[in-house]
Formats: sequence, structure tokens, C-alpha cells
Amino acid sequence: MRFYNATTFLFRRHYEWRILFICFFAVHIPLLTTIAFQALLGSWSLGTLLVLLGATLAGTIFGVLAIHGLLSPIRKATGMLRAIQSGERPEAIPTGADDLVGRLLDGVLTAAEESSARIARLEALSEHDPLTGIRNRRGFMAAAERVLQGETNAAFALIDLDRFKLINDRFGHAAGDTLLQNVAKALESNLRRSDVCCRWGGEEFAILFPDTLLDEARLVMERLRASIALNSGLLDSSWPITLSCGIAPLRNHEELSEAARRADAALYEAKEGGRNRVRIASGA
Ligand code: GH3
Ligand code: MG
Ligand code: MG
Repeated sequence: MRFYNATTFLFRRHYEWRILFICFFAVHIPLLTTIAFQALLGSWSLGTLLVLLGATLAGTIFGVLAIHGLLSPIRKATGMLRAIQSGERPEAIPTGADDLVGRLLDGVLTAAEESSARIARLEALSEHDPLTGIRNRRGFMAAAERVLQGETNAAFALIDLDRFKLINDRFGHAAGDTLLQNVAKALESNLRRSDVCCRWGGEEFAILFPDTLLDEARLVMERLRASIALNSGLLDSSWPITLSCGIAPLRNHEELSEAARRADAALYEAKEGGRNRVRIASGA
């Protein structure tokens, strides 16, 4: 490192130019020595000087090109590391020989793999609810954007557990948490793989039914509501667990937030109507 540090004043920001300059200087040493020697003796041999000049020129060109080529994997590795730092995954990372450059490229490959695995882990964490393990609202929105491509018949259902505060107060927050986990499991196990389910927030869940008519979505939600109400294993007690639900239709991704607003209004009507029921958004 000492020589490296001592020479940083040469082309401070261009390591390659520094090496090329030092190579250029080194290649000229025989020529300069011969000129100095002949000057000292006072006898000049023009032929020797011309041959040496030609050889120096050829040596310089060869040296500069060879060093430029030998440094290319380091240039590549540096570019790839920069890409990894900014969160990209460099496409094809070349492999080197069993030498310094090969080990550097191996290091870049390991860094790229670790960083893309870390990004995938962070993405999964940021899109899932830590309590229930199902998608959170952010994950739901990302999945909905993928699922709702083009025009389609889809339905958005908003679910709210009834009198959940009372359950928390009576059985404790931990029991409330377990109930949320059990309801999430029950919802997911009763849906198709193409349906997108999430914890919308608190004790609310949302489901997107792609390629589904409103009536079909209503039947599924009625079945789910009944199965939750009849499932005595959700809470460690005979306390009745019920949910209310509002459903609104949508035709594309742009209509999702409007459908969520209408489903929320329908959910409010379900609550007002006595809870433990499914309501379709008015005008649908
Ligand atoms: P309603 O039938 O009108 O929906 O009544 P509710 O009691 O369910 O509604 P409210 O919105 O008043 O209460 C929701 C409760 O959900 C309040 C809050 O403490 C509880 N809650 C929200 N998130 C969690 C959670 O992660 N764990 C637990 N245990 N409780 C939660
Ligand atoms: Mg609520
Ligand atoms: Mg509630």
C-alpha cells in the first residue's frame, strides 16, 4: 500500500493512467540511460539510438495495450460493485482464473448474490404482515397491480371482524392476536390461488377476486362468513366470532381505490344492519 499511497499524486482519480504512466516511464529508462551514457562519453552512436528509440516505441505501445487489457476485469468488477451498491443485479459476472483478478471477480459474484438475496428478503418483509404472515396492504397493492392487467371482471371485498375490541378486552390482546392469525389462515385456505388476500390493517382484511363476477364473490364471502362463524377453533372459547363484509366490483387496476372506498361504505352498511353479514356496494 505504501507505493500505492506514495503515487496517488499522479492522476489522483485515474488509477489506470497512473499504471500506464509508470509503465511508460519504465520502458523509457534504457533509452534515457543510453542517451545519458553517450552524452557522458561524448561519443554518439546514432544507429544505436535509433534502434533503441524504435524498440522503446514498440515496447511502449505493447506495454500500454497489454496493461489496458489486463486491467479490464478490474474495471468491470468496479462497475459491477457500483451497480450492486445501487441495488442493481449485474447480469453476467465473468469468472477469472485462479489468481488475484479471479478472486476479485469471485468476491463480486458473492456480493451480488448476497445483496440480491437480501433485497428479496427485505421486499418480502416489507410486503408481509409480521403477525399473520399474509400480505400487508403494500403487498396487496403490488400483487393487485400485477393481477389486474387489462380489463376484467373483478371484485374487492373488505372484511372487518365484529366486536373485536370486546374480544381483546375480555380475553386479552394476545388472544386477539392469535385470533387474527387464525382468521388469516382460515381466509387463505378457503381462497383460490389467484385470489389476493391481505391484512388491510388492525382487524380488517381485504380480498381481491380477479376474473370473478360480483355474485360469485358474494357467494364466496357468504361461505367464508358462515365458516368463520361456525369455526369454534378460532378462539380458545365458545365466544362467537363473526365478520362483516362489503364488496364492490372493479374492471381494472385504476378502479381499485374507488372500489375500496365503495366496499368500505358497504361494510359500514353491514355493520349498521346488525353485523355478521355481507353487503354489496350500492349501485353495483
Ligand atoms: P366493530 O364490530 O364495529 O368493528 O367493532 P370493533 O370492536 O371490531 O371495532 P373497533 O375498530 O372499535 O376495534 C378494533 C380493535 O382492533 C381495536 C384495536 O385495539 C384492535 N386491534 C387492532 N390491531 C390489533 C392487533 O394487531 N392485535 C390485537 N389484539 N388487536 C388489535
Ligand atoms: Mg375495524
Ligand atoms: Mg371490527
